[in-house]
Amino acid sequence: MSDAKKINVEELLAKVPTGLLIGDTWRDASDGETFTVENPATGETIATLASATSEDAIAALDAACAVQAEWARTSSRERSEILRRAFDLINERAEEFATLMTLEMGKPIAEARGEVKYGNEFMRWFSEEAVRSYGRHGQTPEGSHRMLTVRKPVGPCLLITPWNFPLAMATRKVGPAIAAGCVMVLKPARLTPLTSQYFAQTMLDAGLPAGVLNVVSGASASAISNPIMEDDRLRKVSFTGSTPVGQQLLKKAADKVLRTSMELGGNAPFIIFEDADLDLAVEGAMGAKMRNIGEACTAANRFLVHESIAEEFAQRFAAKIKELTLGNGLDEDVTVGPLVESKARDSVAALVDEAVKEGATVLTGGAAGEGAGYFYQPTVLVDVAHNAQILKEEIFGPVAPIITFTTEEEAIKLANDTEFGLASYLFTEDYSRMFRVSDQLEYGLLGFNSGVISNAAAPFGGVKQSGMGHEGGIEGIDEYTQLQYIGIRDPYAGR
Ligand code: NAD
Repeated sequence: MSDAKKINVEELLAKVPTGLLIGDTWRDASDGETFTVENPATGETIATLASATSEDAIAALDAACAVQAEWARTSSRERSEILRRAFDLINERAEEFATLMTLEMGKPIAEARGEVKYGNEFMRWFSEEAVRSYGRHGQTPEGSHRMLTVRKPVGPCLLITPWNFPLAMATRKVGPAIAAGCVMVLKPARLTPLTSQYFAQTMLDAGLPAGVLNVVSGASASAISNPIMEDDRLRKVSFTGSTPVGQQLLKKAADKVLRTSMELGGNAPFIIFEDADLDLAVEGAMGAKMRNIGEACTAANRFLVHESIAEEFAQRFAAKIKELTLGNGLDEDVTVGPLVESKARDSVAALVDEAVKEGATVLTGGAAGEGAGYFYQPTVLVDVAHNAQILKEEIFGPVAPIITFTTEEEAIKLANDTEFGLASYLFTEDYSRMFRVSDQLEYGLLGFNSGVISNAAAPFGGVKQSGMGHEGGIEGIDEYTQLQYIGIRDPYAGR
């Protein structure tokens, strides 16, 4: 029997705090306003939460700033142990977190369990990294000074997260911020705040001191983020979301010369060469396209397949896709859930319809699913025009457009023909080709013979309009520290 059956949804929802976490209290919005969260599989309202005002946002920043100095002085061991306790508690509550994510975001429960595992690894990883934030020591070349560099917490941070990975996108920021000794205001996505609310309560339960993490969910993102970003006390913004919103925030950040980390949109090419292992390529394609219902910044957006194997790949891929089961993610048999809201489903449908008008052929899928939820059928398109809109935009749905290429040079050119540069995938059995092609791909991440490569131990980040900075890896903590150089007059200088 699955663990999921043991979770009583009503009892779980009753456990999730519905207020704003400011300091040590969950409280109502200053104007008493609320907003609702719905289940995309049914369209039903599942929760009503306090909707933060600008005044609440500043109250959250006040609470954070009040404890920054004291928090920065805690030992890294103490911060490490809080993270480790949180890791253990999240593991204990894993089925609750998974159920919450399926309820508010729609992903199949098995994938939600996978996200708990993946997301929680950031807590374990940064509990380990917390005690390993090193500076360096050296001497100036002239021998005049000893050089000492130290890493200090960057200071109060605003963390803004998207709806597609409600737990992992929060832990990927909160974990390193705690490790580095920063205080935070977290603003979760309007569509999926419940996971963050429960995560914040779990952090308090793990012994995180009040004020270090404050959570302001709400209906209006800019009403929350603008006043915080205009406040001189803020030092950093870490944002994961779409490129247009990232661009707006970067402009705003420029006014205060804020440190920024930007994890933005993608348009991942999935390149299959004629010498690829097709079994691996089909398996990789399923992961890179169908994980999270295609609603991932790393989702394969364009399948570039060598013309000699394109037909066989398309048929085998479509056959696998036909085996998927569309439905409510809480059902253990379901492998593809609904899209997050009706707008998302309609925009996927419009992209497919337009591609078909431009000459694409539907191998499987190609229409919305049945029921009250925001379902779209897993879809494979072939004969897609090389200039089709569906190849230029992030599809963010379970739709795989396939195009063909003839030469390696053409594949690289097509792959780089986008303003984005987050994830890319490359399938070939020729390792010299792997190095040759990866050198020329303008992407921050490359999956070689693998369709899913995200890992807490690896640096995740994009180039071009996919962003700047890295999350995870040994690099992730640096985003939350600032370097101070101390030049010490060398007592032996000139002797
Ligand atoms: P979004 O940009 O609409 O929203 C992201 C967050 O920003 C949400 O919390 C939202 O409330 C907030 N927001 C929206 N407008 C804002 C404003 N004017 N000021 C301040 N905050 C604002 O993105 P989304 O639809 O939630 O997420 C999908 C996007 O996120 C996709 O483009 C996807 O590629 C990207 N994404 C990137 C990564 C990555 O690591 N690079 C990971 C996941 C998602």
